[in-house]
Amino acid sequence: MFQKILIANRGEIALRIICAAKDLGIRTVAVYSEADRHSLHVRFADEAICIGPAKSALSYLNIPSVISAAELTNVNAIHPGYGFLSENADFAEVCETSGIRFIGPRPDVIRAMGMKQRAREIMKQAGVPVQPGSDGVLKDADEAAEVAARVGYPVILKAVAGGGGRGMRIVRQPSEVLSQFQQAQQEAAAAFSCPDMYLEKYVERSRHIEFQVLGDNHGEVEVLGERECSIQRRHQKLIEEAPSPAMTPELRRRMCDSLRVAMRAVGYTSAGTVEFLMDEKGDLYFIEVNARIQVEHPVTECITGLDLVKAQIQLAAGAPLSEAIPSPVAIRGHAIECRINAENPDTFAPSAGRLTGFNVPGGIGIRVDTAAYTDGSIPPYYDSLVAKLIAHGRDRNEAIARMSRALEMFVVEGIHTSIPLHQRILADPDFRAGDLDTRFLERFRPVR
Ligand code: ADP
Repeated sequence: MFQKILIANRGEIALRIICAAKDLGIRTVAVYSEADRHSLHVRFADEAICIGPAKSALSYLNIPSVISAAELTNVNAIHPGYGFLSENADFAEVCETSGIRFIGPRPDVIRAMGMKQRAREIMKQAGVPVQPGSDGVLKDADEAAEVAARVGYPVILKAVAGGGGRGMRIVRQPSEVLSQFQQAQQEAAAAFSCPDMYLEKYVERSRHIEFQVLGDNHGEVEVLGERECSIQRRHQKLIEEAPSPAMTPELRRRMCDSLRVAMRAVGYTSAGTVEFLMDEKGDLYFIEVNARIQVEHPVTECITGLDLVKAQIQLAAGAPLSEAIPSPVAIRGHAIECRINAENPDTFAPSAGRLTGFNVPGGIGIRVDTAAYTDGSIPPYYDSLVAKLIAHGRDRNEAIARMSRALEMFVVEGIHTSIPLHQRILADPDFRAGDLDTRFLERFRPVR
């Protein structure tokens, strides 16, 4: 087992990784930007090193700085968390060549999965259903129009290197192709330094359903059931739950079996998520693989009783899957996660600033993952996540009741948060009935 690991991240996920490392008796090194000097991940790690100014390009995304910190502190491994360098194949490669274990999939697997049209082709070959669309990268808007005419409108243009809901455009008719193609390309070039686009058929009224995967370095892969993440704003998740209200035991078994085979063929190691859309008929279509631990992993932890981050660390150190998790993994009850973001609940405008008051709810069935504290601040430089509020119950109704109670008792003062929006969603009859789709939130307000 590793003696010491470096955490190349900040906020709640850095603290989450520190918890898993402490439970394993592993020492931790935090890295931080000048803006995060007073953060809790700095306080609770065994050592901490400043790696640069507030801007993430100069600190959390600065590969030479992170590697220098790792070499200086003599760590055995680096956990990248999510976001930042977590899906950067070059970073994973530099870690390995520097003799530091990267806690994640192999660089070539990250690279293949990071190119979304490539992942689509690989999964298609492995027998996983995909929506009809382009074969690889689109040359130009004319080719986009040809493919769209072939598969039928509406279609969705997507950035090959996309993430976080950016670089995507729904196209409903031929006259819109050129302008949408150009806009999506520009957005993708600015956000990901890669303008390449592909397209697939747009699934109207779909649910977002994803499967948690865990693989070891010996060729074994396990699939730990699904999460439903249909409550989204701007194609970004706001509420996640496990299991999905739309899943049947039979479909789950079939999906887990076929994904186990597909991900073994890919040579997948560590934690990862395979994302799907479910159409109105209940059929699932692959959209992408996220080759990292995800924000919403706690709902799977609640219903399986597993510590996925601990398992990631054990697997990276060479443990077989049979040692990291029990077999079979049983699913117990229902869990829901609300992302408490620092944002205006009506306009979604970011709301950074000082937290004049902060009190987390507790009680049976409640878990809060956060790095926030009273008098601390939410800096404007990073993502807006303040806390993840997770409720676990025997069934979905109990999880909803506990979540509603916890939202009411969550005090965040000094900034705006998404709490009032979560309360409205939790009270909604369609939400309570489990009647969800990815455009659910548009019924509350137009998405800007
Ligand atoms: P990102 O990597 O930016 O998160 P994804 O490919 O995971 O992008 O898609 C994010 C969301 O966009 C999905 O959860 C869904 O709401 C919507 N979406 C993506 N592809 C389609 C599609 N083919 N049809 C309908 N909605 C889609």
